[in-house]
Amino acid sequence: MMRVVDLRSDTVTMPTPAMRQAMFQAEVGDDVYREDPTVTALEELGAATLGKEAGLYVTSGTMGNQVAALAHTKKGDEIICEAEAHIYYYEVAALACLAGAQVRPVAGDRGIMNAAAVRAAIRPRDVHQPDTGLICLENTHNRAGGTCYSQEGLAAIRALADEYNIPVHMDGARIFNAAVATGVAARDIARHADSVQFCLSKGLAAPVGSLLVGSRAFIDKARRFRKMLGGGMRQAGFIAAAGMVALQSMVDRLAEDHAHARLLGEALADLGYAVDLATVQTNIVIFATDGLKIDAPALVARLKDEGVKAGAPGARRVRLVTHFGVGRADIDYVVGVLAKLRKEYQTV
Ligand SMILES: *Cc1c(COP(=O)(O)O)cnc(C)c1O
Repeated sequence: MMRVVDLRSDTVTMPTPAMRQAMFQAEVGDDVYREDPTVTALEELGAATLGKEAGLYVTSGTMGNQVAALAHTKKGDEIICEAEAHIYYYEVAALACLAGAQVRPVAGDRGIMNAAAVRAAIRPRDVHQPDTGLICLENTHNRAGGTCYSQEGLAAIRALADEYNIPVHMDGARIFNAAVATGVAARDIARHADSVQFCLSKGLAAPVGSLLVGSRAFIDKARRFRKMLGGGMRQAGFIAAAGMVALQSMVDRLAEDHAHARLLGEALADLGYAVDLATVQTNIVIFATDGLKIDAPALVARLKDEGVKAGAPGARRVRLVTHFGVGRADIDYVVGVLAKLRKEYQTV
């Protein structure tokens, strides 16, 4: 049988035996009545881990971000985010449809916005203009290839937000990748944001769910919006139990995924692929099809024939994501396949 290495996303990770056991044994109740002890425990653990007062278990990262936008803003506000931010790029225009907000995209450097650019995008109080209602930061930045904010960069944006009294939401779908890569505790990263959303279902390998954390007043408000969106789940402790295991035991091992991504990125660069190694900070490797007589979707199809599943986030961009389900031997296999395809398709 041919080896299949699935590098499309870290969302393809499967629950561990410990997660399956925890799910089987989970104590549950009706969480809309706040009677599910496992959900409550997960929300408390998530909040404590990120140094916030309260947490809310949501179905997905998208729901966490959207509930946060609803709770932070009013209709007609403007939300500042990076030009390729997930919340703007991949959430089906939900900021417009649900919160009734418009987006002010700000170009970042490899996905990372600087305070001066954010300052320039903040609206003056003016009868013609919308209010800037929220600054949204993505850490790690998905489309930029898993890049991380520095603590200095975050502190500068926090200071600006305080100056203008604008809340900051962090789309920290992969905040633990940022924490492991930079050596800064997740709670110290989260300190710069009023609210943080993080995914349990990506590199942490839980089957379902994200947590939104923030102040108690904010989470009370967010809980009502979650209900409005149909996210009030009943005996959700079954899936929250796997989330507990994810938070307790799957964070430190992310370093392995980062080492694999680094290996892969460097091997690709050695083979002559157009890869910006400065972006390979966590578990994502993106390369361009420059110098190849094949575009990204066609190359992804060709890779699939060779047992390597990849993504094409653009016509000329291929994405490979390392995760719990990918070992060192898989990386070596993928490098071998890419070496072969490079010879087939290179223009010079
Ligand atoms: C995956 C992701 C999300 C959304 O998470 P889902 O659970 O897929 O809805 C949000 N933001 C970023 C940066 C992501 O990578």
